[in-house]
Amino acid sequence: MSQHIIVWFRQDLRLNDNPALESALNSNAAVIPVYINDTSCGRPAGAMGLWWRDASLAKLDAALRARGSRLIYRDGKAADILPALAQETGASAVLWNRQYEADIIARDTDIKATLKNNGLDAESFNGSLLFEPWEVTSKSTGGPFKVFTPFWRACRALGLKRGLWTAPAKITPPPSWPPSDPLPQAAPLPHMDRLDDWQPGEDGARAALNLFLTQNISGYAERRNLPSEPATSRLSPHLRWGEISPARIVAETENAKIIGKDGDKFLSELGWREFSYQLLFHNPSLPETCLQEKFEAFPWRDNADDLEAWKRGETGYPIVDAGMRELRRTGFMHNRVRMVAASFLIKHLLIDWRVGEKWFWECLVDADPANNSASWQWVAGCGADAAPYFRIFNPILQGPKFDADGIYTKTYVPELTALSGKTLYAPWTAKTDMLDSGQIALGDTYPTPIVNHEAARARALERFKSL
Ligand SMILES: Cc1cc2nc3c(=O)[nH]c(=O)nc-3n(C[C@H](O)[C@H](O)[C@H](O)COP(=O)(O)OP(=O)(O)OC[C@H]3O[C@@H](n4cnc5c(N)ncnc54)[C@H](O)[C@@H]3O)c2cc1C
Repeated sequence: MSQHIIVWFRQDLRLNDNPALESALNSNAAVIPVYINDTSCGRPAGAMGLWWRDASLAKLDAALRARGSRLIYRDGKAADILPALAQETGASAVLWNRQYEADIIARDTDIKATLKNNGLDAESFNGSLLFEPWEVTSKSTGGPFKVFTPFWRACRALGLKRGLWTAPAKITPPPSWPPSDPLPQAAPLPHMDRLDDWQPGEDGARAALNLFLTQNISGYAERRNLPSEPATSRLSPHLRWGEISPARIVAETENAKIIGKDGDKFLSELGWREFSYQLLFHNPSLPETCLQEKFEAFPWRDNADDLEAWKRGETGYPIVDAGMRELRRTGFMHNRVRMVAASFLIKHLLIDWRVGEKWFWECLVDADPANNSASWQWVAGCGADAAPYFRIFNPILQGPKFDADGIYTKTYVPELTALSGKTLYAPWTAKTDMLDSGQIALGDTYPTPIVNHEAARARALERFKSL
């Protein structure tokens, strides 16, 4: 009987640069590609993340079919499904690429042991990071780095370049396919009405990288802060679902000879992703527990009205509202605005960062187990190498600084189209005739600020200082 190998796809929804698939094909086996919707383990994806995943699974299935193969989709517990599927198909091995959440690691370890007890080979690979989270250690402590800059310096010293692998045009199928549940249909929520710019799947990821490297990377080091410009790669949801490997991003950036500060800055953002995964691996409760313990005693406010206003993008601060509405409609928010909106929730409203983290988890197409919680902890000031507590993003000044002509803000807050310059970001300072001619009635067509900036800032400084 010819050999069959199950390749278990998880957060690696691609064929190229996929070490588990590469290993299966190197052994000349027939491959049974499977995806298991196991909601019993790991953090279930939020609504926007699921939309992306389901669209991506359809693309993965199509790419496999074009190579004479297909994706088997099963709903249920991986720990039950994999041994049963191996028996059903007579597979001799199960291969997969690793994930780094503690409960997933524990489940995978058990699955590996069960499969090996059943006489199968079971092997896992690094398919999503440049470095395993335990590989880059501080010479002085021997443990993981707590600060980004020396971490990234150490990564660069080890070398970022990895081998790339191109999936073959044909993937040998088994003599007969085991049954599959139907693939889930990607279903956007009604308010997700600006999804057209996204192209989930491996081809979309390659196209996004190519567009970025050929047209948009110039000036990245500064322009990445401007939300109205197409100045960043928008690769985050592709990376989240493993549609592209960081190794390919590094190789193509270097091949394109994008050196100097734009290339370095871009690669260092991938470094923040590596750093976040290292933090998650060594601190499994990163999404729930402040890395700096003293913050656990912080007296957060519990205010449902303020929280709702923030979620809906009705805080009365246009740059915050633009970001929150971009999130709701597109499943994305520009990084600069993420920092401002998160800081507003934590510092101006004194609402627990974990509440915001959960909302982003629900709404972001790139909601990532490591990046989301590490970034929220960074803004709250309670994380590793975090912003100091007195860094409070000023929602009145951030707008004119980073969206001076208001293109981004007016896209999502069109009711303020008549305003410009600094007034756009502080509509309550606009003259009455200007508001009237723009048909703006504060408190009616657009909210008045839910908190006074100066008072909220002073309150936050006072409370954070008490720590
Ligand atoms: C409060 C908050 C929450 C966030 N939540 C997430 C999240 O759930 N998922 C996520 O991928 N990013 C998150 N980020 C980081 C960042 O905002 C996004 O990665 C970035 O906006 C994605 O756009 P891009 O792909 O065009 O980025 P680019 O500027 O092109 O960067 C390239 C890649 O580097 C990585 N990267 C960039 N910035 C960061 C960062 N600060 N931390 C970790 N990795 C980074 C991403 O994988 C990104 O795709 C969050 C930031 C904040 C402030």
